[in-house]
Amino acid sequence: MKFNSLGAALRYRETCPYCKNNLEVARIPKSTAHPTVMNNRMYWREPITNEFISVDLDTEEMEISSKDRTQGTYYCALKITCELCDSYYHVFNLKFNLTNRTIECIEINNQGVEFCDSDYEYSITNSKSFEKIALIKRYIKTGDEKIIEFPYMDIDIENPVNTLKRLEGLIAYL
Ligand SMILES: [Zn+2]
Repeated sequence: MKFNSLGAALRYRETCPYCKNNLEVARIPKSTAHPTVMNNRMYWREPITNEFISVDLDTEEMEISSKDRTQGTYYCALKITCELCDSYYHVFNLKFNLTNRTIECIEINNQGVEFCDSDYEYSITNSKSFEKIALIKRYIKTGDEKIIEFPYMDIDIENPVNTLKRLEGLIAYL
């Protein structure tokens, strides 16, 4: 799913589909620049040099603090997650054109959901760039886990059990 603007991408889903809590920008481990929102601007700040790229969420006007980073392309990921129930996230991949000071591409690359029934905990995650979807099925009583991967498909966020049924249908053919 692609978006025309960063503002539109952030409005894609503002509350958790399961607990209805507000979704938040997550810290991404190992990421060099953690995105944060301040005064209606999103900042990608380098932890050591403190240099940043920032984008106005309404106008898309871009500011670059680094004198070295004024040309070319900059890629980053933006993870949106539910900090309350921890059962939902999506990750945008962004491509900045630093020369033109525009965002050339904003799309959802990953989504993930977690849910359970009386016997199992399920985690379903997909990735556009890896062209796959993964199901982790954990038997609650023993903690035994099975991980199975399939070619990419969208997750039915509102009813993830539908996606689970589709994947379990595919297991029969493995
Ligand atoms: Zn939630």
